[in-house]
Amino acid sequence: MNTKYSNPKFPRVVIIGGGFGGIEVAKALKNKEVEVMLLDRNNHHTFQPLLYQVATGTLDAPSIAFPLRKMFRKQENFTFRIADVRGIDALNKTLDTDIGSISYDYLIVATGATTNFFGNSDIAYYAMPMKSVKEAVNIRSFLLQNIEESLLKTDLEERAAYLNFVVVGGGPTGVELSGSIAEIRNHILAKDYPELKKEDMNVYLVEGLPKILANLSPQASEKAELYLKELGVKVLLNVQVTGYDGDIITFADGSRIKTKTVLWSAGVMGQFPDGISPDIVVRGNRIRIDEECRVIGMKDVFAIGDVAAMITDELPRGHPGVAPVAQQQGRFLAKNIVRMLNGQPTEKFKYFDKGSMATIGRNKAVVDIGKIRFQGFFAWWVWMFVHLMSLVGFRNRVVTFINWAINYLTFNAGIRLIIHKYRRPERVSEHAE
Ligand SMILES: Cc1cc2nc3c(=O)[nH]c(=O)nc-3n(C[C@H](O)[C@H](O)[C@H](O)COP(=O)(O)OP(=O)(O)OC[C@H]3O[C@@H](n4cnc5c(N)ncnc54)[C@H](O)[C@@H]3O)c2cc1C
Repeated sequence: MNTKYSNPKFPRVVIIGGGFGGIEVAKALKNKEVEVMLLDRNNHHTFQPLLYQVATGTLDAPSIAFPLRKMFRKQENFTFRIADVRGIDALNKTLDTDIGSISYDYLIVATGATTNFFGNSDIAYYAMPMKSVKEAVNIRSFLLQNIEESLLKTDLEERAAYLNFVVVGGGPTGVELSGSIAEIRNHILAKDYPELKKEDMNVYLVEGLPKILANLSPQASEKAELYLKELGVKVLLNVQVTGYDGDIITFADGSRIKTKTVLWSAGVMGQFPDGISPDIVVRGNRIRIDEECRVIGMKDVFAIGDVAAMITDELPRGHPGVAPVAQQQGRFLAKNIVRMLNGQPTEKFKYFDKGSMATIGRNKAVVDIGKIRFQGFFAWWVWMFVHLMSLVGFRNRVVTFINWAINYLTFNAGIRLIIHKYRRPERVSEHAE
């Protein structure tokens, strides 16, 4: 494929994925003697940590997405194509994509992760994931549609199913999402829908482990649970989901909840094109890489971020699937590629863990930074500052800040719009040819 800046003198570095990892590699290769080609199936980068605010109508979708072309318009050695990469032919150093074949000298797989429904096709069909802007907007529509629908039901039990919202997965995403839905219940429901009282709506957070935020400190877990309960979220611990048919969610202990809305944040798994040997795919469908981010056994192919597992004695499960890992690996890999091209020795990746945090409604958050742990109002300010500064684009930061300020002062900011009515796509039979 020809590109505007095609320079046959320079090796071509192709990056699949314009997420947190991919954009860092591309940026760090600016002004270097390489041709950078970024491929993504979308034309934008998504700031996934704030997807839940799009799903619950606090922010609009463009505030957390940024056009990839705009991001790199001042980078001369950069080309972007919207492309879905289907396969890697490592022998011939080419990619099979929906826009044709693309050759590479160095390949970086930064394709991230997708929702893991753990093989349950009913849950995959009926529950709603939240990994992309589109999915977050679908959730927003579906939440609002179901509240509207509840008003049309005279049978109380039937109505309750439309007003029971179940979030599965007690990690940061589930905690933030359920807290945010509880805020709708507490501050918006009765105002927007005078026929309803907040007691009519129930928000559940279901977690299979004995605590939420299991990867944070015990203090953070306990406080987050307390904050959620104060918001009125019913936190169900040690509860395994066994099924969901669009009407009833069932649990391993035999209990069940009638609900039209199940939001799934219980796990992710790596996603990548064909051409990677199953022998190097490990737990969580991640590609095994060495300490220089090189895919084991593949020449000039690297993987970073959520899709990659750098397994060492200290990290038998690899790094956590968080944005800073992807970003640091991206910057590291760009430097190593330059070292390789200059004939210099390459280095090994070392992750600098800046800490973890989660917010639970207004005024409350939990923050762990190494041994420093704090919760409550100050933690919430820290959470807001970090997320605001991490957003890509000045406009997005300003718009988000204004939205948050209005929301804080009025309890009533919000983009509670149903732009496209959400309907589940037709179910494709698993046995279809
Ligand atoms: C709801 C949610 C909340 C989160 N909150 C936090 C948080 O608070 N803090 C934190 O640190 N982390 C958080 N994370 C995790 C964080 O977003 C990921 O760790 C990070 O996005 C990983 O970066 P990545 O570059 O590996 O992949 P991604 O950022 O997911 O990017 C992958 C890119 O690859 C593209 N792609 C995939 N396959 C193909 C293909 N075949 N062809 C072309 N393009 C392809 C995708 O379109 C996407 O743009 C959250 C994740 C989610 C889903």
